[in-house]
Amino acid sequence: MNSPQSRPPSCQDERDPGALPVSDALALVLDRAGAVVGTQKVSLRSALGRVLAQPLISPVDVPAHRNSAMDGFALSGADLPETGAAQLSVLGTAYAGIPFRGVVGAGKCVRIMTGAKMPEGTDTVVIQEKAEQTDERIRITADNRKGQNVREAGEDIAAGDTVLEQGTRIGPAQLGLLASLGVAEVSVKRRPRVAFFSSGDELRSPGEPLEEGEIYDSNRYTLYGMLNELGVDIIDLGVIRDEREAIRGALEEAAAQADVVLTTGGVSVGEADYLQDEAAGLGEILFSTVALKPGRPLTFGRVANALFFGLPGNPVAVMVGFYQFVRPALKRLMGDASVAPPTFLVRSATKLKKAANRTEVQRGVLELDANGELTVRLAGRQGSGILSSMSKGNCFILLPHDGPPVDPGDMVEVQPFHMLRW
Ligand code: AMP
Ligand code: MG
Repeated sequence: MNSPQSRPPSCQDERDPGALPVSDALALVLDRAGAVVGTQKVSLRSALGRVLAQPLISPVDVPAHRNSAMDGFALSGADLPETGAAQLSVLGTAYAGIPFRGVVGAGKCVRIMTGAKMPEGTDTVVIQEKAEQTDERIRITADNRKGQNVREAGEDIAAGDTVLEQGTRIGPAQLGLLASLGVAEVSVKRRPRVAFFSSGDELRSPGEPLEEGEIYDSNRYTLYGMLNELGVDIIDLGVIRDEREAIRGALEEAAAQADVVLTTGGVSVGEADYLQDEAAGLGEILFSTVALKPGRPLTFGRVANALFFGLPGNPVAVMVGFYQFVRPALKRLMGDASVAPPTFLVRSATKLKKAANRTEVQRGVLELDANGELTVRLAGRQGSGILSSMSKGNCFILLPHDGPPVDPGDMVEVQPFHMLRW
């Protein structure tokens, strides 16, 4: 085995001086994760959730033409009275989408609707509330300014401007922006393919009866959920028994189809040799223990040409390991320009224990206290198998490697779950 550790790690180990600090482990992971090769053209709607393969240069001006920002009367600023009032005759109406075709000369104006193209000869809009209309004439006063209430062509975006950088993930706003430019097809990165399986003799799938000592496999479902939200292609290879041949076969099958192979379970004491040995035999292992709780026995390396993450078996450790290591790697592979999840500081309402020399990730609830200030408290019991507190929580509380325990009122770093979704 290529692993730097002399013996396999266990969830039970409290400390391990050989464990890699999270920041070093993440640097190693990101060093190995390069953007997938391949782009494809997709229709506008299909671009939602995808990553732009090229910068988007605007083919047009937005707005396309100089237009009115208000309902009112379009006229030439030269006709505005400096004092007192002036009378102008109304030649017709300009609607959004139905322009007034004539030329507007001195002493004349056109009734205009919001968004309508400014008629030739006009540069100013007097809002209807400031124009007294009688028959075919309006009376305006001196409290107007040349050029007011007009939106210039290209004021939002000029033709040739870079509107979206390469590596931008397309969300609803970007989709609308693309539509506003008339873009019907978008060049996006190929989606990374991720193959995964759970390992464990005790695992059954929901719908099957449980025999004594068996449990339901939940990791394939949290993984399915997390991978789906990120927007990658998913290959679910099911539950694999704790047998060498079966594990080797599944790893080979996974690596042949995918850019990334994820497994859960089988990396703690007793079973470690199967997954790590077989993965090492088909590729290499770069690390197998991280100074992280939960999620300490986490293997990273390569199986054939695929990146390999051997996540722990415990359900919360799987999610923590996924969000701290797999997600950044997948974002890199997706060609996404932003990789690191955002974190920010809030006040802790509770005391938090913290051991030295490891990163601890706790499940928290971000909420407003009685003064309307954002605070965080623990979401419940923090064992690495307790998925219910993951479900009750809405954020991770990150206690850094060298950080001390936390007293109520101390500031702590949090990562809201919704910011990890993509
Ligand atoms: P292992 O790393 O295989 O020793 O697993 C550690 C713990 O996680 C054990 O209690 C397993 O029963 C549990 N576990 C492993 N795989 C899964 C899974 N797919 N779903 C739920 N629990 C699991
Ligand atoms: Mg197991």
